[in-house]
Amino acid sequence: MRIGIDDTDSPAGMCTTYLGAVLIHRLREAGIRVTGQRIVRLNPNVIYKTRGNAAICIEAEGDADEAFRIASACIEELAEFDEEKTNPGLVVAEKKLPVSFYLQAVTGFCTIEEAEAVCHAAGARVKKWKNGRGIIGATAGIAAEQADMTWELLTYRSHTDKGERTVETESLFRAEEETFPHTWDTVDTENNCIVCFPHTPDPVIFGIRGESPEWVTRARGYVHSQKPVMEVIYHTNQGTDAHLLDGTIASLVDGCSYRLTGVVADTPVTGRGGHVSFLLSDTSGKVRCMAYEPTKGFRDIIRSLAPGDEILICGSYKNESINLEKIRVITCPEIVRQRPPLCPSCGKRMKSDGVDKGWKCRRCKTRAEEPETIHEPRTVSPGWYEVPPSARRHLAKPLCRGIPPA
Ligand code: ATP
Repeated sequence: MRIGIDDTDSPAGMCTTYLGAVLIHRLREAGIRVTGQRIVRLNPNVIYKTRGNAAICIEAEGDADEAFRIASACIEELAEFDEEKTNPGLVVAEKKLPVSFYLQAVTGFCTIEEAEAVCHAAGARVKKWKNGRGIIGATAGIAAEQADMTWELLTYRSHTDKGERTVETESLFRAEEETFPHTWDTVDTENNCIVCFPHTPDPVIFGIRGESPEWVTRARGYVHSQKPVMEVIYHTNQGTDAHLLDGTIASLVDGCSYRLTGVVADTPVTGRGGHVSFLLSDTSGKVRCMAYEPTKGFRDIIRSLAPGDEILICGSYKNESINLEKIRVITCPEIVRQRPPLCPSCGKRMKSDGVDKGWKCRRCKTRAEEPETIHEPRTVSPGWYEVPPSARRHLAKPLCRGIPPA
């Protein structure tokens, strides 16, 4: 069976992954064999999300009624019911749910009714609390299947502990140094900051993301922190670009995320707050692309683009612009400019003598037929560029995992 839970937390505390960790423990205590656990991230642009739009799916073998009862009790005990936006959902399915529902939830939007219909068709047990929106994530978490997956080791303190976390900064840098690129996003070396723990009062102490259980465990071994009450290694769709759709500019839908090829249509400009933007065009239209201030050094790459550059971009379309996650510069031809030549006789800059009439020196009347051609070197070269770890979204595939095929 698969057990899906979602929407149990609030900005003031709790985390659905923590509730999942507690539930795994309780299922085992009751003699139910847990065979796997997953964090399934869904559309990052969903407005109902608390933080990273994560759902939990636990794979288990045993009595489904008993598992349903234990999971319900766990949610009733731990979910943040006082928060208006917390609407927990629980699904226990003994049959497979259609992967199409997961694909819809990770790339687009779903309704509570659609989730209920999918569960009903498969004879799954469903429980909703308050408006029950959590069953969308719970259903999608169960339905999720994809070949490319990563891992995250999460360490937890008690959910009642809401103070400062104690994690030794140097030990996190050491973990990154010893295990990158097999693990990633523990720290941001470019911006000298820590990425792997939240700054909210939830129970996560820190999390290590990586390519296998062995690598995240190895990295975790370097980290010194307060003593966790639980540690769980989750299988996850994080870092896989599962949210991206291939599209054209005319086909963009608000709240969806895309991979698009186009041509830079104007010179990138830095606006108020340090956000950098430019227009991208393809044969179907034009769209504004944004590299926001938190993307730090990535903005220098965007500033170095020039009209005519052919690029591929990845990012979310929201409020009529694309929030960039990474780009591939396909071509960035040398910029060639022309200006009036210097007079070969007296050295003064010549003036145009009219359209197609060449140039003439105002001082000594010497004539020239050819302008001066300037070849401006480019600071950007073809290749992939991404936002730093501190600005990366959970689903965005880091380039250290391998460069996407051209
Ligand atoms: P955390 O990651 O800290 O556990 P969260 O960011 O996952 O919290 P939730 O509190 O779970 O946020 O809220 C997300 C809500 O949005 C859930 O009710 C979930 O069912 C719903 N949801 C998720 N994906 C979609 C989607 N594609 N369309 C509509 N609703 C969705």
